[in-house]
Amino acid sequence: MKLKFGFLAHNRPAEKELQYAAKNNLNHIEIDLFNDQNLLESFTQKRIRVIKNMAEKFQISLSIHPPYILNLADKIQIISEANLRYLKYCVMLAKDLGAQFVTTYLGSINHQKNFAKARRPALGRAIENLKEAVKECENYQVKLALENTNLMPKGSPIFYLGDNLQDFQRIFSGINSPWLNLCLDLGHAHTNEGIIPYLKEFGPKIISVHFHDNDGRKDDHRNIGNGNIVWKKVMLNFSNLKYSGPFLSETRESPAISKRKLLKYLIE
Ligand SMILES: [Zn+2]
Repeated sequence: MKLKFGFLAHNRPAEKELQYAAKNNLNHIEIDLFNDQNLLESFTQKRIRVIKNMAEKFQISLSIHPPYILNLADKIQIISEANLRYLKYCVMLAKDLGAQFVTTYLGSINHQKNFAKARRPALGRAIENLKEAVKECENYQVKLALENTNLMPKGSPIFYLGDNLQDFQRIFSGINSPWLNLCLDLGHAHTNEGIIPYLKEFGPKIISVHFHDNDGRKDDHRNIGNGNIVWKKVMLNFSNLKYSGPFLSETRESPAISKRKLLKYLIE
C-alpha cells in the first residue's frame, strides 16, 4: 500500500504549511478555513494562484475544510441556507485551488430537551442541503467528504450529526452520488461504534482519513499510541481495503512525528 500523509493546516497560513510539508516529505494539506489566517475571504485570486503554484511545484495535493461550526441542519431556515451558500463557495474555492475535495461536518443539534427526537428532522434538513451541495460538486468536479464526528458526553448541550453509523446509512441511501463521500476521522469513530465498523460499512466511500488517538470516551486528539486505538489492526484493515487516500494528522505533535508513529504500526 502506497500511503499519502499530510495534516490539517489550522495553525499557520496555508503558504507556510506548504513549505513545512515539502520539507518533511508530506504529500497532502487540508486547509482549515476556521483559522483566522485562512478565512474564506482571504483567498483572493492572487493568493489562490500562489498556493496553487506552490502545491503543484511541491507535488502536494490539497483539500478544504470549512469551519467545524458549519451547520447544514440549523432549524432556522435562513441560517441553514447561509451555511449551504458558504459550503458552495468552499467548493468553488477548491476548484480554483485545484483541491481534490472539501471535507465538511454536517451540523449539530443544540439545546434540545430530547436530542434523540430532534436528530431525525435535523438530519433530514442536512440531507436536503447536501443534495444541493452535491449538485455544485458535480458542476465543479470537486468531491465532498462528509466527516464523522465525535460522540459528545451525556448531558452535553450540543450533539453533532454524523456521530454514528446510522446517520451515514441514512445519508448514503438518500443520496447516491460519486461526488458524495466519507472522511473517516478515526479518533471520532473510536468515541462511538469504533473504526472497523465504518470500514466494513463504507469502505469504498472513504476518500480521506483523519488520525489521532483517545481513550474511547473523550475526543482529546492525543498523540498516536497515547490512547487505546489498536493501530496495528486498524492499519491492517486499511491495507485490505486498498485505501489510496491521504492519512491526515490531527494529533498534538508535529505531523512529521505522527506520520513516523503511524507508519511503525503498519510495518511491525
Ligand atoms: Zn477530523
